[in-house]
Amino acid sequence: MTERQERLVKCFPDLNKNLEILAEECAEVIQSKSKLIRFGLNHNHHVTGRPAVDHLQDEIGDVLAMIDILVAQQVLDPDELQAAKERKLKKLESWYDT
Ligand SMILES: [Mg+2]
Repeated sequence: MTERQERLVKCFPDLNKNLEILAEECAEVIQSKSKLIRFGLNHNHHVTGRPAVDHLQDEIGDVLAMIDILVAQQVLDPDELQAAKERKLKKLESWYDT
């Protein structure tokens, strides 16, 4: 385990809370994606002025942070995550219309 992973496990020890936060962050990705589709790639937030795509990237980063914590807690296996990612890319190749 790396020093960073040890720090993550120490700072964020509650598995149930981490899974809840992961779910919340996934929901925020969905919301952000919906706004991007609704208002377009070049839309800026009416209050913050931030580009919608920046918001989507932030929310995906939040999900990746939670994944790092779950890997550090040895709930998720990075090799299995990579294998799942490759399986998804292969599945997409078989049905994705280009
Ligand atoms: Mg978030």
